[in-house]
Amino acid sequence: MLRSGAAPHRAGPLCSRQRKHPHVPLVVQKFGGSSVADATAIKRVAKRVVETKEAGNDVVVVVSAMGDTTDELLDLAASVTDTPAERELDILLTAGERISMALLAMAISELGVLARSYTGQQAGVLTDAAHGKASIVGVVPERIARTIQEGGVAIVAGFQGVSETMDVTTLGRGGSDTTAVALAAALDADVCEIYTDVDGLFTADPRIVPTARQITEITSEETLELAAHGAKILHLRAVEYARRYRVPIHVRSSFSDKPGTWIRTDSETEDSSMEEPIIAGVAHDRSQGKITVIGVPDVPGAAARLFTVVAEAGANVDMIVQNVSSEATGLTDISFTLPEADGQATLAALRAAAADLGFADLRYDDQIGKLSLVGAGMRSHPGVSAKLFGALFDAGINIEMISTSEIRISVVTRAEVLDEAVRAVHTAFDLDSSEAEAVVYGGTGR
Ligand code: ASP
Ligand code: MG
Repeated sequence: MLRSGAAPHRAGPLCSRQRKHPHVPLVVQKFGGSSVADATAIKRVAKRVVETKEAGNDVVVVVSAMGDTTDELLDLAASVTDTPAERELDILLTAGERISMALLAMAISELGVLARSYTGQQAGVLTDAAHGKASIVGVVPERIARTIQEGGVAIVAGFQGVSETMDVTTLGRGGSDTTAVALAAALDADVCEIYTDVDGLFTADPRIVPTARQITEITSEETLELAAHGAKILHLRAVEYARRYRVPIHVRSSFSDKPGTWIRTDSETEDSSMEEPIIAGVAHDRSQGKITVIGVPDVPGAAARLFTVVAEAGANVDMIVQNVSSEATGLTDISFTLPEADGQATLAALRAAAADLGFADLRYDDQIGKLSLVGAGMRSHPGVSAKLFGALFDAGINIEMISTSEIRISVVTRAEVLDEAVRAVHTAFDLDSSEAEAVVYGGTGR
């Protein structure tokens, strides 16, 4: 189950485990909501944990809340008030993970293995005070280390921590991945296994591209780009954390024994003999909107003023396009994309600053889709963008905006042709698998 060879040393400000048996590998296993959805699922997870332990590993488990529990808790809060205090909402939401951790501990004990569950606070997950989206600032997993030393399995509630003021915090939706990676870093684990309801990472979302291929190995850099541009694979923060602390992640299905996907940190990739494909995959994102500011004076400082207003509205801008200004009027149009969730607040802030910014009109378009092609091989292979644009042209799809990074090309299209665009690009870059269709067990990818 573990890779052969020594794990690279991971240094960091986090506390390091005092290993009683330095030769016993430590595995952190994270199980998503669909993997612990009911009693049967929890027993299946217990069995897998015990098997890993009996194979000669120390095991620390991180769990998400059962099935849709977090959504149900949010609905409950909404039925009491429209404006829940964020502190109370966080306490409420962390209850979900506490249920699954205790049940899993019971199920593991039932199989004759010592198991103890811990809340984020008990596990020493320290965060800042940003309720609902807290960042982990340190991990002091003393009780976890002690449980391991006693020969037991420690089970930790994902997605939660405690602030300096001892208030319970949550890490944002999907945050259990980040808990798992942070614990793996703090405990100097050999691997962080993320169990989900798909067989691993795919070259595209199998629900859109049935011929998507499962990825065997990918760099954390590529994973970061895919996750940041809509691929619902892992919590973005978890990948950033894994990159920073060099934690190898192994994404696997809890419903099968398939080999899954290894996310390598870059130092590992460099000395690996794997032949890197040029393209890792195609991500898509339907959650963005586009604001066009019409008739902006084309003078120095206009963009600075405009995007200061946007930033103060809290919007995370992705792509920006400025048109050539008309010589006659000295005016230009600026378009940018942002999360739809930030759309209305940003429009309101721009309207409020209209006199100062001096634009003529504002347009908002939430019917856009974004396709992103990602691959570390783009650095050394010219012609990738030409091929991408050619594939979209052949499919009769119009490109509205383009942006690039060193290893990514993104295009904006109409939302209704996005799926078709993803399929066309996937095929053009020879990513289609000839094998059986990808299996999606639960269908959430978590
Ligand atoms: N239960 C939380 C959520 O649904 C955290 C997680 O699943 O990672 O977002
Ligand atoms: Mg949309």
